[in-house]
Amino acid sequence: MTVSEADIVQCITQGGVVLLPTDTVLGLAVSPRHGAAIDRLYGLKHRPRDKNLPIMVADADDEIALRIPNDAQLLAVLRETGPLLVTSANRSGAQTPDTTNEAAALILGIETSCDDTSVALVDRSGHVAAIKTVSQYEVHEAFGGVYPELASRAHLEAILPTIQSVMDEASATPKDLTAIGVTRGPGLIGSLLVGLSTAEALSMGWGVPAYGVNHLRGHIRSVELEGGQTEFPAVIMLVSGGHTLIAELKDPWSYRLLGTTRDDSVGESYDKVARMLGLGMPGGPAIDRAAKLGRPVLRLPRPMKNEGYEFSFSGLKSSVARHIENHPEVSLEDMSASFVAACLDVLVAKADRALAECKPRSLVIVGGVSASPQLRDAMAQVADHHRVNLCLPPVKWATDNAAMIAMATWDYIERGVQPALFPKPNLSLETP
Ligand code: ADP
Ligand code: MG
Repeated sequence: MTVSEADIVQCITQGGVVLLPTDTVLGLAVSPRHGAAIDRLYGLKHRPRDKNLPIMVADADDEIALRIPNDAQLLAVLRETGPLLVTSANRSGAQTPDTTNEAAALILGIETSCDDTSVALVDRSGHVAAIKTVSQYEVHEAFGGVYPELASRAHLEAILPTIQSVMDEASATPKDLTAIGVTRGPGLIGSLLVGLSTAEALSMGWGVPAYGVNHLRGHIRSVELEGGQTEFPAVIMLVSGGHTLIAELKDPWSYRLLGTTRDDSVGESYDKVARMLGLGMPGGPAIDRAAKLGRPVLRLPRPMKNEGYEFSFSGLKSSVARHIENHPEVSLEDMSASFVAACLDVLVAKADRALAECKPRSLVIVGGVSASPQLRDAMAQVADHHRVNLCLPPVKWATDNAAMIAMATWDYIERGVQPALFPKPNLSLETP
């Protein structure tokens, strides 16, 4: 799109989104309706004179990723670089997808809820035409967990080149897109904002509709990637770094939450136990490998195993910590095997109860921990026992990725539900 200076001025003074080439200085300016959220997040005291001004500009080489430009400064930069996309708030993008256009057969998925910048192109059948995930592992390694402020900066640097690379890999143009699907929650607000603002800019600039997608629904639809099929009704178990829950699905859209964790998630306890054992991050795969070489010799608790559908993993983690202290003679492999056995025992008991009570046709296990071979084997046995299909995501797409977000977007299109591109850090499973 060619833009005039008048467009830019209108965008800056009346609101809108400016997306600039990343090889020049600026990354992206965020639309003004995200302003209040950014203010809260970063404690910004000095809003521009006109509170409708775009307030966030990222500079890849700058220590300070966020600053408030005044319009003269921003205009000077824009004059030099020439914007890639500029649109004003008054010029709204396409709202509904053109599903009759067969050329437009792809969803562009964008996932930035936590510490991976992921972009993918996925068609209706779940075929992944291209995907790229930029991990921030090295950014956060020293902190022993995700550092939110650094996460949003890293997303900001990675997002546009990642989108470009995926579009190039699939030789795709905006005309090939049915829609853009972007994670709107749950997640870190600063990280979510980067994906949402980018999607909004592309949507308006390209005239492609954009859908705010629930990350948890993305995980659940990950089993449909590359040929998988879920038969409904289904019982789903989501076991990831941020979540542990079990729910019933009557169809791809209607969820009934059965239970969730009272404290830590399974993935979190894998990661914490891995750290206690000096296995490093990410903990899941490291624990799995160690556990395969050991025997479950320790008697660890099985918290809430026999109580309904709620989970609790913090007691198990503390118990492992005590054993490490009191029984230095127990090998790392046996510790890991004992921990995995306790986790699986609880997860299998809950799945078994849900299958007996809900009598579904499928058992769907998703989220990062569903990559665990031990968990896959254990769940295959339960599914077999109840004669239901076991649906698992391809291992490479068990952890956070944009292909699953794109896949879930098809459900939103079919339902005609188009959530706003606004971050919802605590979005629940039942809300689209
Ligand atoms: P979230 O969406 O909550 O950020 P992910 O779905 O990406 O998390 O899952 C990340 C979690 O999955 C981490 O806690 C990690 O340890 C765990 N994980 C990844 N691979 C495995 C594995 N092979 N076995 C067990 N846990 C795993
Ligand atoms: Mg996830």
